[in-house]
Amino acid sequence: MKLTDFLKTQKETVFSMEILPPLKGQGVESIYSTIDSLKEFNPAFIDVTYHREEFTFKKHPNGLLEKKSTKKRPGTVGICAAIKYKYDIEAVPHLICGGFSKEETENALIDLNFLGIDNVLALRGDPIKSERAFNPEPDGHAYTSDLIGQITDMNNGVYIDEELSNPNPSDFCIGVAGYPEKHFEAPNMKSDLKYLKQKIEMGADYIVTQMFFNNKHYFDFVDRCRAEGITVPIIPGLKTITTQKQLSVLPRYFHLEIPEELSDAIEDAKTKEAVKQVGIEWGIQQAKELMAAKVPCLHYYTMGRAKTTKAILEKIF
Ligand code: FAD
Repeated sequence: MKLTDFLKTQKETVFSMEILPPLKGQGVESIYSTIDSLKEFNPAFIDVTYHREEFTFKKHPNGLLEKKSTKKRPGTVGICAAIKYKYDIEAVPHLICGGFSKEETENALIDLNFLGIDNVLALRGDPIKSERAFNPEPDGHAYTSDLIGQITDMNNGVYIDEELSNPNPSDFCIGVAGYPEKHFEAPNMKSDLKYLKQKIEMGADYIVTQMFFNNKHYFDFVDRCRAEGITVPIIPGLKTITTQKQLSVLPRYFHLEIPEELSDAIEDAKTKEAVKQVGIEWGIQQAKELMAAKVPCLHYYTMGRAKTTKAILEKIF
């Protein structure tokens, strides 16, 4: 079922989560145990991230360096199908521009269509570690709006090979990312919103936000989106802080602010358990305020940490 159709039928705020595929070579059991421990809260959908290749250099005895490419977390499409058919929960694969040619994207979409996956989250992806800026594949997409154009084309039965006879149209519901504190490359919020609006005009149906710890950023973002004429659902993305280290890691990777009150409380916490408790209490308050504002869904960046998400969900649902 399309997420936007499902959300229309819900009177109350629902919950969803995001997980990572396991590292290459590991089994799917860790994913199942995360889902098993949270399924009593009826996840509306489960997102599965996509991880592009990484490059490493292997030094040979003669001193020459060999560049090796490896995908450490393959399996997004397979896991989505496993989740959908094991749990009867909508699984949403992330689809990225980075590392994909247009033909590879088309083939991935064909697989997803055959598997009965109805929703995809379209993203650009970050630059790989050895590059300062994002570089698309020679025959790939530079921006998410271009990727959405390709998915929308397929939804209209238009494939890359225009000579296909009677091509089957897909019917994907398309989600995109939004940044309450601005995407780090955008010169300002106005510019970022212009391109967010372009993604909607190209065919995106809903927005999931980057994580934030101050609800004001989300509420201001929604107001600005509405003022720009963006009317699609805007699902807040949430994460629970569980370690003191995250006070520096999260702002560095995700370009977000951690409110003073939260960072002070985490720094003052004397034990690891006390840190987690601060994160959980903050998460409960954030969620309650968002639910009071009637957000459509609370989307948790659960990744491998179901326990803290569960502690929050137990208090709010
Ligand atoms: P875009 O929408 O393409 O925007 C990228 C930047 O370019 C922005 O600054 C925007 O303002 C600007 N821009 C957009 N269009 C244009 C244009 N036409 N001309 C000029 N500038 C333009 N990454 C992964 O690798 N895998 C994942 O699974 C993943 N999941 C994510 C899930 C969520 C909910 C979020 C919020 C992020 C996720 N990311 C993931 C990270 C994401 O790929 C990065 O944040 C990436 O840097 C931007 O992706 P985007 O889709 O927002 O890009």
